[in-house]
Amino acid sequence: MTGDAAQDVRTELSVVIPVLNEAENIGPLLARLVPILMRCVTSYEIIFIDDGSTDDTMLAIHRANMADRNVGCVSFSRNFGKEVAIAAGLDHASGAATVIIDADLQHPPEMIEEFVARWREGYKNVYGQRVDRSDDSPLRRALTQRFYKIFGSVGETTLPEGAGDFRLLDAQAVAALRTLRERARFNKGLYAWIGFKSIGVPFEVETRAHGVSKFSYRKLTRFALDGLMSFSTLPLMVWTYIGTAISIVALTTAIYFVGETLFFGTDVPGFASLIVSVTFLAGVQLLSLGVIGEYIGRIFAEVKRRPLYLVQERVGPIGQGIDEGLDISTAQTLIIGQDIRRGHV
Ligand code: UDP
Ligand code: MG
Repeated sequence: MTGDAAQDVRTELSVVIPVLNEAENIGPLLARLVPILMRCVTSYEIIFIDDGSTDDTMLAIHRANMADRNVGCVSFSRNFGKEVAIAAGLDHASGAATVIIDADLQHPPEMIEEFVARWREGYKNVYGQRVDRSDDSPLRRALTQRFYKIFGSVGETTLPEGAGDFRLLDAQAVAALRTLRERARFNKGLYAWIGFKSIGVPFEVETRAHGVSKFSYRKLTRFALDGLMSFSTLPLMVWTYIGTAISIVALTTAIYFVGETLFFGTDVPGFASLIVSVTFLAGVQLLSLGVIGEYIGRIFAEVKRRPLYLVQERVGPIGQGIDEGLDISTAQTLIIGQDIRRGHV
């Protein structure tokens, strides 16, 4: 156990599970998860984050809570996305360590035993490292690979290979993540950004137990852009170099044409080259404007300072967490989030 942290915290292990329409998975997941928790920790809490489910997910969670009082839930007022659901889970977790796991049984709960063992050895950021992605479609796999390649070359943070949300975080790492209140969230980057003593534990992704993936290609594209733009300003900077290169080319050709006119008289210039260069430059300018627009859109989202999420209902022994803004379940305004943002944790 990691000494001090464990002594003054109520629960030894919190398990955070984001759920969006996973009614059929909740029973089978708990049936596999709970015996493992009972075996490897002294006390646990399971926190489902209901990310605006429209099926019987909440019913299944209420049932689970009746059977096991350690099961609780924070239910959002609408779908805020998995990244935000995880942030909410971490806001509410009271454990000396917290595990984040998907609800669809793609992350084998048995791995938690090994995560806990590593944590007891002193690691504060123990991440599951997927060894194969055979469960994803070939297109998704190819695009994911491409994304990590690009992120690797332009990102300001290095992502460990195959690391995702399935991991254990010490209370200290959780506290660090709680201070990061950005809206355009890319958790994989944030886990790496906070640092702490980290280690990977390889695991094989299983096939989804029930239902289908909640990520469309559109959602994944948005997510990839969020990831790149929150961890790199290269897309903004690169235009300086492109602009410089184009200016040098333009200047050289200008000098050439001036020389040619002076020495050999005027010639009738071709319209084609003129049109091509004009449209090319217009394209480059629009593209760079688009990139700037993407960043401005993100700045706009951040400066609005809206709460990250809104809670509609709480089930079980779930504390108030550190929601910013209005907690609809109790119609109370919480201002604790403000302090957290300034780092007075
Ligand atoms: N999820 C969520 N909100 C979303 C999308 C997904 O809470 O907007 C949850 C989902 O219920 C699951 C986990 O995030 O527990 C992983 O989602 P999924 O299996 O659809 O993603 P994939 O495994 O395809 O990456
Ligand atoms: Mg899945």
